[in-house]
Amino acid sequence: MHFTGRTWRPPYEANSVIIQATSGCTYRQCRFCNLYQNECFRMSPIAEFEEDLEEIKSYQPYARRIFWTGANPFAMSYDNLKRRALTVRDSLIKCQTMAMFASIRDIKDKEVWQLRKLRAMGINGLSIGVESGDDQTLALADKGYTSADILEQCGKLDEAGIEYYVVYMTGLAAKGGGYRNAMNSAALFSRLNPYFVSVDSLTLFPDTELYKMQQQGLFVPAGEKERIRELQIFINSLNIRTHLLANTVSNVIPVTAYLPYDRQKVINELQYVLDNVDETKLQEYRRNLKSLG
Ligand code: SF4
Repeated sequence: MHFTGRTWRPPYEANSVIIQATSGCTYRQCRFCNLYQNECFRMSPIAEFEEDLEEIKSYQPYARRIFWTGANPFAMSYDNLKRRALTVRDSLIKCQTMAMFASIRDIKDKEVWQLRKLRAMGINGLSIGVESGDDQTLALADKGYTSADILEQCGKLDEAGIEYYVVYMTGLAAKGGGYRNAMNSAALFSRLNPYFVSVDSLTLFPDTELYKMQQQGLFVPAGEKERIRELQIFINSLNIRTHLLANTVSNVIPVTAYLPYDRQKVINELQYVLDNVDETKLQEYRRNLKSLG
């Protein structure tokens, strides 16, 4: 298999077969991210992709779900995605789903009819790290799009029937911004149709722009209790039926819920922590986080 640079897949794709479609990220500007800083974006040559498929076929000929790695393989053009999707179908005859990371920016250059065709070829299950639906927070993180872009581009995925998952990041709005971020993000996400919402919490690593801003006094991180309250507000205000997965390593208190049914239960669980655990203990957990992988 051809794997170059950093290979990253979401925890919920643990059972998918992995193939490298791209490596690196086309953007590399998000201020909290250090994932692909020293790596140029690269599309795997089609010959390499085909060789890897042959290898997968030799041990998993009936694979049903395949995850294309790289920060955003969906940045590829419609024609390139189509060519690869058809190649996967030729090799893995039972494959029903080709999932991958995508950015809001990557959807912009695709028409709904193209998205529908990609969906028909098996491209489905896009993980989108939108992080926030609050314009001030999106600008602070330099995500390169606005809440209006999120609404428009996810609307195209809905029209095309492409399933997608969105990420929300607590703590990203800085100290004092959690309430605003949670309210505005929940309002926006409530107008989308994500199959689930995955929640991370900001962890500042020294090689990120946001860390430098913190050193210069330009960014003051939210405390852990503010983040827990932010998550409570987000959960309380999210008005769609969806799964919520706040159980990655960056969440000091891991919780999962099926909303709206588990809403009160999870809010109570978080309240118990707010009432009974010291801020310093919670901060100690994050200080000891060396990586998110
Ligand atoms: S968060 Fe994603 S889009 Fe932003 S720089 Fe990191 S890998 Fe690229």
